[in-house]
Amino acid sequence: MVVRRDSAVGEQNSGGGKKPAKEAKGAAVKKAAAKKTAVKKASSAVKKSAPAKKAPVKKATVAPKKATAAVKGVPAAQPVAKPPTGESHTALVRRARRINRELADVYPYAHPELDFDNPFQLVIATVLSAQTTDLRVNQTTPALFAKYPTPEDLAAANPEEVEEILRPTGFFRAKTKSVMGLSKALVEQFGGEVPGRLEDLVKLPGVGRKTAFVVLGNAFGRPGITVDTHFQRLVRRWQWTDQTDPDKIEAAVGALFPKSDWTDLSHHVIWHGRRICHARKPACGACPIAPLCPAYGEGETDPEKAKKLLKYEKGGFPGQRLKPPQSYLDAGGKPAPPLGA
Ligand code: SF4
Repeated sequence: MVVRRDSAVGEQNSGGGKKPAKEAKGAAVKKAAAKKTAVKKASSAVKKSAPAKKAPVKKATVAPKKATAAVKGVPAAQPVAKPPTGESHTALVRRARRINRELADVYPYAHPELDFDNPFQLVIATVLSAQTTDLRVNQTTPALFAKYPTPEDLAAANPEEVEEILRPTGFFRAKTKSVMGLSKALVEQFGGEVPGRLEDLVKLPGVGRKTAFVVLGNAFGRPGITVDTHFQRLVRRWQWTDQTDPDKIEAAVGALFPKSDWTDLSHHVIWHGRRICHARKPACGACPIAPLCPAYGEGETDPEKAKKLLKYEKGGFPGQRLKPPQSYLDAGGKPAPPLGA
């Protein structure tokens, strides 16, 4: 099962080019490899998947030695040889899964960033997350669910009062219509319960496949890949796929990982996109997976400057959820402030 959401897995190809061993002799790699065992391991991984052809990366391809050493909670970056292009499928699978494992180490507490206590709250919050941030939704839904805790309550609400509550999320009139229509359908067609099947969810007004899969993946434990804007950007940077169509990205990435990894993979990728690998200014100099990334150098490579680009808990700031899981708090994460705080 694959999920779409806007908000919102070696061996080398035998084709020509320099041998990986030559790559390993690059001065930067040698310097860093001599210093740390971990660096040696990373360097080896890059060698295995080193490019047969010149990589399409114009900027520096060697990570600075101190890339992330000063970033709390982020493992030290390791040197990068040339980016892995021309990989075999097997090599790509290995590199993709290694990236996911590295990200799991960096974000062991990764979770959906919408606050919810039950499937009803999640489906409503996901509908509201269109064209706004999860933070803004999380700051808005406490008042909504306090006043209308069930589908029955929301279906019978005064639309103008709902609009006032939803105003901070933008497009509040359309969103009011959506969530009230959705609630009415839940009451009339599903006894006031959110159904746990894709074919039922997509029949609900305002619920497309992307929202349905977010709900199934996070409220019903059914594996799904959430292809939001972060996911699309990062998997292309990592050359997991060159597809641009979300459906094709889902299929291509889904083929690299076992289904059981899909939901957590989605969280890891999206978390990395929100915290480190930003759209405009990726913090390459503070990135723990730099050795595995063909796009290293697209963003700031100076460790100190890169550190200043980090967001949320990696930058020492609050997260998006007002009620994050305990694992996040235990790791030093801070809850987001309520609206107006
Ligand atoms: S920040 Fe993004 S582009 Fe830069 S090295 Fe990390 S994953 Fe690659």
